[in-house]
Amino acid sequence: MDMELAIIGAGSAGYAAGVYAGRAGIDAVIFDAGMGGGLAVESPEIENYPAFKKINGMDLMEKMKEHAEEYAKFKFYEEVKEIKKEGNKFRIVTSKGKYGAGAVIICTGTAHRKLNAKGEKELSGRGVSYCATCDGFFFKDKDVAVIGGGNSALIEAIYLKQTGCNVSIVHRRDRLRAEKSLEVKAVDMGIKIIWDSIVEEIVGKGRVEGVKLKNIKTGEAKIMPVDGVFISIGEAPQSELAKKAGAKTDEHGYIKTDDMQRTNIRGIYAAGDVTGGVRQIITACAEGAKAALMSTEVLGKMYPF
Ligand code: NAP
Repeated sequence: MDMELAIIGAGSAGYAAGVYAGRAGIDAVIFDAGMGGGLAVESPEIENYPAFKKINGMDLMEKMKEHAEEYAKFKFYEEVKEIKKEGNKFRIVTSKGKYGAGAVIICTGTAHRKLNAKGEKELSGRGVSYCATCDGFFFKDKDVAVIGGGNSALIEAIYLKQTGCNVSIVHRRDRLRAEKSLEVKAVDMGIKIIWDSIVEEIVGKGRVEGVKLKNIKTGEAKIMPVDGVFISIGEAPQSELAKKAGAKTDEHGYIKTDDMQRTNIRGIYAAGDVTGGVRQIITACAEGAKAALMSTEVLGKMYPF
């Protein structure tokens, strides 16, 4: 099966690309290794996507998917393993088959960064989690630590508190990276912030029982008893596929593009969190839209811009 445009990744960038491609008369297929939605589905509350004062991440992404379904075809649970340039076209090799495409948009997003603390791997799924929306409910009335000081950590902490958990945030510095409004909200809700502290170990026999913290200013180490540890220390780009195809990345692994989402390979575009930058849903959508419209330049389509 051949297509004009292969969109890899069904997050906000991919869905927006699908809508814009379909409306420009481009036959587009969106591939996703899972069920789509990207990391945004894990967000309990999104308050900065215009037109929605407050919306759950799963609901927003479901709406985007329904919209994209009007314009593009989907291939869920089909991982793209390789993109090969063959003349002016691309061969897309997936976990299920091979396809031809005239242009490609890579919007493979990011994955949760690991803390790499002792005990983290062993206790993952046994009290260690990377998603408050998914697992928060299991910790109602229990003590949990949220590790990190960015927007995601604060949003997760606030959500867990709302769910009925006793929440402490552990941050390695004396100042948060998160927006001030989130800090104010967290403190107002009674969430404790443990400053200047790193997690040396997650302890427990078969289940999380505590975290070993070290204060980096005083050197003091202590074990804080908790039932759950939510690690929210940012994300790393999923750009291996792009690199394998020859796309250039920056020193952090984010795909380099020009301001119209072109990579260094003619016909391959990239959009959304995998390109770095401010990593917001609205910017991912905008980049997906731009990439889809720019693909007209290699697909021999007219577009009035
Ligand atoms: P982030 O902004 O990169 O913050 C990561 C946090 O984890 C930082 O506080 C960092 O500490 C800490 N950290 C990193 N590595 C660590 C380690 N090894 N040990 C302990 N702490 C560590 O990541 P994010 O919060 O996931 O957000 C990612 C992007 O999405 C950002 O651009 C963010 O603005 C955006 N986002 C926006 C919203 C929103 O607008 N509402 C919501 C969620 C996410 P330092 O501060 O010391 O570096």
